[in-house]
Amino acid sequence: MADCGDRSGDSQGSIEDGETQGHGHFFVKKTFHKPTYCHHCTDILWGLIGVGYVCEVCNFVVHDRCMKTVVSPCSSIATYLIKNPVAHCWSEPSHFKRKFCNVCRKRLEDSLAIRCEICEYYAHLDCQDFVVSDCMECATYFPQRDRNVIHYHHWRQGNLPPNSKCVSCKKTCWSSECLAGMRCEWCGVTAHATCYRNLPVECKFGSLREILLPSTCLTIPRLDVPMETILGISRKSMWERHVRSAVTQVKRRSAVRMRKMYDSMMLANTQTNVEDI
Ligand SMILES: [Zn+2]
Ligand SMILES: [Zn+2]
Ligand SMILES: [Zn+2]
Ligand SMILES: [Zn+2]
Ligand SMILES: [Zn+2]
Ligand SMILES: [Zn+2]
Repeated sequence: MADCGDRSGDSQGSIEDGETQGHGHFFVKKTFHKPTYCHHCTDILWGLIGVGYVCEVCNFVVHDRCMKTVVSPCSSIATYLIKNPVAHCWSEPSHFKRKFCNVCRKRLEDSLAIRCEICEYYAHLDCQDFVVSDCMECATYFPQRDRNVIHYHHWRQGNLPPNSKCVSCKKTCWSSECLAGMRCEWCGVTAHATCYRNLPVECKFGSLREILLPSTCLTIPRLDVPMETILGISRKSMWERHVRSAVTQVKRRSAVRMRKMYDSMMLANTQTNVEDI
């Protein structure tokens, strides 16, 4: 992870109660000597010297008042929360202006960084080993599944387009000061980390709805799924078809044999009749 060099404040010990609550952050109290913003609600830590909490692992900064409602998981546990890891599609290392690292949450600044070309996950080159493989799944078609499957939002934290508004509370949810705010990579909806969990889980693709091909319509070659499953041919029907064709062949063969027997009998009969004459 990149060096957390600007942590100049005085840590005053870890918080024993309500320290993780499932989000996995390891918060310590800290006094900030320059304007600092809460990554949860995007407001500034008020006061001449701001006092708040910072996660020792991922640098998540939060108000005292916001601690209890933090939902963004710490990068220390985020990997374990992914049920179905999907690798990102990395750009060439480059310099990205006004963006924040999704791993260490610090500005990319002049450090070399990479960006996922699909889901806008950013990371310092030095943080690449700690990225969470939670890219968008773009091909999820499965023949036996109900066609009316729900498509969920794919939330990505931070680096929102300037002046993004929260779809829930209508206030600004974008920040130029820290990695904050959530955006669905499918429909482009933006919301506060405090608000997005109250939204309906289903993604309807927003304004791109008419031209977007849902991932549930696409399939990619997968070694773990048999070819007949991908083609939508069940094993049972394959077996039935196999049996049916075998029976047909047997019938055809026996019909040919019967015909031959009949022909030879007829021939013999004719010869007998000829001899009789
Ligand atoms: Zn806050
Ligand atoms: Zn953390
Ligand atoms: Zn980083
Ligand atoms: Zn990605
Ligand atoms: Zn969405
Ligand atoms: Zn909001």
